[in-house]
Amino acid sequence: MTDEERKIKVCVIGAGAAGLCAVRHLMANTIFEVTAYEQTNDIGGTWVYNEQVGFDENSLPIHSSMYQNLRTNLPAKIMNFPDYITMEGLEPSCVSHQTVLNYLKNYAQHFNIYQHIQFGTKVEHVQLTLADNCDQDKWLVQLKMIQTNKIELHCFDAIMVCNGHYFEPYIPSITGIESFPGIIMHSHAYRKPDEFSGKTVLILGAGSSGIDIGIDLSDQAAHVYLSHNHDKLTSSLPSNMTQIAGVESIDKNIFHLKDGTTIDAIDVFLFCTGYKYSFPFLDKSCGVQVDNNYITPLYQHFINIEHPSMCIIGIPTVVVPFPMFHMQVQFFLALLQNRITLPAKLVMLENSALKSSNKRHAHKLMDRQWDYNDSLAIAGGFNRLPLFYKVGYNVWSIQRSVNLLRYKDSKFVISEDGQNIELVIPE
Ligand SMILES: Cc1cc2nc3c(=O)[nH]c(=O)nc-3n(C[C@H](O)[C@H](O)[C@H](O)COP(=O)(O)OP(=O)(O)OC[C@H]3O[C@@H](n4cnc5c(N)ncnc54)[C@H](O)[C@@H]3O)c2cc1C
Repeated sequence: MTDEERKIKVCVIGAGAAGLCAVRHLMANTIFEVTAYEQTNDIGGTWVYNEQVGFDENSLPIHSSMYQNLRTNLPAKIMNFPDYITMEGLEPSCVSHQTVLNYLKNYAQHFNIYQHIQFGTKVEHVQLTLADNCDQDKWLVQLKMIQTNKIELHCFDAIMVCNGHYFEPYIPSITGIESFPGIIMHSHAYRKPDEFSGKTVLILGAGSSGIDIGIDLSDQAAHVYLSHNHDKLTSSLPSNMTQIAGVESIDKNIFHLKDGTTIDAIDVFLFCTGYKYSFPFLDKSCGVQVDNNYITPLYQHFINIEHPSMCIIGIPTVVVPFPMFHMQVQFFLALLQNRITLPAKLVMLENSALKSSNKRHAHKLMDRQWDYNDSLAIAGGFNRLPLFYKVGYNVWSIQRSVNLLRYKDSKFVISEDGQNIELVIPE
């Protein structure tokens, strides 16, 4: 057997932050032969701002949900990949989306990643196969060249799904919505506040996007209602932004809320209700199911238990994504190289079982993300994340919850011994 034949051929789907991280680590070991396919003509995924909504010039649905004024909602320092800490973000701690895209471009350049990415290539179908054109149990990947519509089939030993998770809007059904005469949209299509000048906007959902877009809009809008079912936010908000209960039903111009009250004269109903995980290219033979945003069967939220030569990077939510990608990728590569073995299938299925009462929160980690990252490092035999990630995240969570209007301007101050971090709001 030649060296070429011994190589493990890995297909990476997507060249956003997760795909870039996958390629970077695959490249570091000559046993892997890596090809990443990216449907657009650029790297960066979410961080590529496109003023257009709907479809791009190649008739592809616009993938990114980025908006003009977005600044990161995490301190840039803790968004760095641990092997490429060049985004300082010390003052202010949160940076523009352009800064993050530049960071990813520099990362790709630094690790020489571009040579492994085939742009303008959409992965259309991934199938487990024993077909003639593959010599053993492998993955058959169908590609479509966006410019020419040419179709190609390629075989791989492993698949790393890095297609992102914020492109397929989740819109809950609301009784009577069809009678609403105003504008209805989802945050995926939100770009800039000017379009809302003088309008009264009702935002449904007070997660990161609902809050951030609400604050962004409030400069231009006449009034912003932030409608949600959680405890009231305690931070101060813009003077023209009011928290109200969730929407129960709509009757033309009248919104009936869950607390029995009503609101009217709404011009725009903006859903900030999140996204659905979507893997339209995965054939049934891959064995992956998505039920109300709960993906099964996944060990540690990312390894396909039925076929462990497939993983899906970046499923956990309420986490610091880039460093987590770094951990998941290294674990998967250790697995492909047989440096680690997985637990028995029953144990993995138990790990994949629903632990939350709501399927939509099955992959929410929050404070558990640090133990999760550590557990991958320990089992995979690689370095844990430096402490500043966790400490930085913890002080950030507190600062953010009490000061939604100013937390992004904080200085990120690391103590001399590197053990403590303060976020200091400038005078
Ligand atoms: C509005 C918004 C704000 C955010 N703010 C922050 C923040 O402040 N800090 C933070 O850390 N994270 C933030 N995030 C999370 C962000 O999604 C992650 O940081 C990260 O960029 C996700 O990277 P990814 O590679 O998983 O996905 P993506 O960036 O979505 O990249 C996926 C790539 O796969 C490609 N692709 C998809 N399907 C196919 C296919 N079939 N064939 C070929 N290519 C395909 C896409 O074109 C895309 O380039 C934010 C997300 C959103 C939506």
